[in-house]
Amino acid sequence: MRFYRPINRPQAMTFDLDDTLYDNRQVILTTVEKTHQALQAWHPRLATITPQDYDRVRLSVEQQYPEIVHDVTAWRHATLVSLIQSVGLPLEQAQAGAAEVMTVFHQWRSAAHIPEMTHRVLAELAAKIPLVAITNGNADAEQLGIAHYFTLVLRAGPDGKAKPYGDLYQVAAAHLSLAPNTVLHVGDDLITDVQGALVAGFQACWINDRQQNLISASSARLLPHLEISRLDSLTSLL
Ligand SMILES: [Mg+2]
Repeated sequence: MRFYRPINRPQAMTFDLDDTLYDNRQVILTTVEKTHQALQAWHPRLATITPQDYDRVRLSVEQQYPEIVHDVTAWRHATLVSLIQSVGLPLEQAQAGAAEVMTVFHQWRSAAHIPEMTHRVLAELAAKIPLVAITNGNADAEQLGIAHYFTLVLRAGPDGKAKPYGDLYQVAAAHLSLAPNTVLHVGDDLITDVQGALVAGFQACWINDRQQNLISASSARLLPHLEISRLDSLTSLL
């Protein structure tokens, strides 16, 4: 545990989900692969669709609707509809296909293994202070079996612009009825979590479980209050 700024005892904590509370890397790879297979299998005309085709359509959806980047679920759905239409299928059929493929996506997306340490730490913290989850992604806290530790789960898209924008941090502070600087946000991303939290007035904890170097990290913008390599270091702050 390393301290870079003086820290107040947190009255609440907010948590990023992916790669903060569990390792999400393999989950994403598997999810993308299974989702693509489901797309190819949905209609013969989609059998030769490639991941590059998907990326190209995804980009054109973004160019058409720039605000969609704040809602990765809506973005994926719109990309699938557009992609299915691009092989000559009508809109109605494209919407049905996209809905089915999204069902496959959601099944795999929240299949992450939650380490025992995460359960232990969240249970211990939640017994003392309120916890809020703040995610840019579309993992489902209920399906992951961790929703009960949080008094609120906020998602980019339905609840506001994606981190590092301040929307979700502001909603969290309002929900907690706490001054932002009494809340500690914990996350693995130096921009969305550390910079985003600090600009919103929160205290920030960077979880660095892959031995990165803060000073040489290309995405480092602002110094967090502290850096930890294991989630269970947080229990010593209370
Ligand atoms: Mg993360």
